[in-house]
Amino acid sequence: MSAATPAERDDAQFASALLAWYDHHGRKDLPWQRERTPYRVWISEIMLQQTQVRTVIGYFERFVADLPTLADLAHAGEDRVLALWSGLGYYSRARNVLRAAKLCIERHGGELPRDIDGLAALPGIGRSTAAAILAQAHGERHAILDGNVRRVLARFHGVRGWSGRPAVQRILWEHAERHTPGHRVADYTQAIMDLGATLCTRSRPLCAECPVSNACIAWRDGLVGELPEPRPRRAVPTRATAMLVVVDAHGRILLERRPPAGVWARLWSLPESDAAADPAARLESAYGIRARHVRTFDAFVHAFTHYHLRITPRLLASAGPEAAIADGADHAWFARADLRSLGLPAPVRRLLETLEEHR
Ligand code: SF4
Repeated sequence: MSAATPAERDDAQFASALLAWYDHHGRKDLPWQRERTPYRVWISEIMLQQTQVRTVIGYFERFVADLPTLADLAHAGEDRVLALWSGLGYYSRARNVLRAAKLCIERHGGELPRDIDGLAALPGIGRSTAAAILAQAHGERHAILDGNVRRVLARFHGVRGWSGRPAVQRILWEHAERHTPGHRVADYTQAIMDLGATLCTRSRPLCAECPVSNACIAWRDGLVGELPEPRPRRAVPTRATAMLVVVDAHGRILLERRPPAGVWARLWSLPESDAAADPAARLESAYGIRARHVRTFDAFVHAFTHYHLRITPRLLASAGPEAAIADGADHAWFARADLRSLGLPAPVRRLLETLEEHR
């Protein structure tokens, strides 16, 4: 047997230091760790994309309580899935888990594929998420490279450049592959994600407590604040809209369904009008609803990845009586109690809750 090279020894030391740290400090009682089925690991991994663990826990528990198996999910309506996701944001993730579940029923015998390529080909599951599912649900050796791991490895190895660039990605994947051990891979996967989430955090990382600080290049060279390098800046445009909270004589609120593509696709939301336009005219022309403008509230800004949306809430009272709206129409009146069970965009839900508190 040939002796390990210095690089191999370094990689093994990284993994063993991380596993020893995980044994003392890692998170071992998260709901998706208790019963590590591929389905539960998958749902948790998708929810954890761009979202912190403490936010995900409640959503995850409600989701798997309501839809405990992949088959339950595949047969659920989109509205039900969106309602369970409501408030978690990035709703394309919810649509993708539904599409992926249906594909598993149609093409993979009702199970998530066991091979990494088949799994990574499903909607919303890339290479890293597929690897995390196989590592955590089946203990298979696969490297992961989610946002937390990218940050840890960019700092540990002093990797320059924005990690969205293919050349930088390639370097980070090579490091990720080399460090992944052949044993305890599920624990290692959780450990490196935990390190990124708890110590090697975006701002103010706790390097003094880090199990791999003795070999970390960013720590040694004073580059912790500079790495990973951010996406090159570009101006984010701001758009403006008015959201119309239209209340009828019974206290019901008018909602309209968003178009099937674009932001908040197919979610129920408030009708909107041009920020400077007469809101009553928009309602009358779109829906034949006559309403009186009661009040305009202070505008607030909601940040999307590619632009900021400046939202001016306007309260209107319908002049009623309201004509019946056909089932299946793209707008409807909803009692306040029914709003909880709808998939609403997070800022719309917050706005309605704030207005409710002011009533
Ligand atoms: S020493 Fe600091 S920068 Fe380096 S891996 Fe640890 S926490 Fe991250």
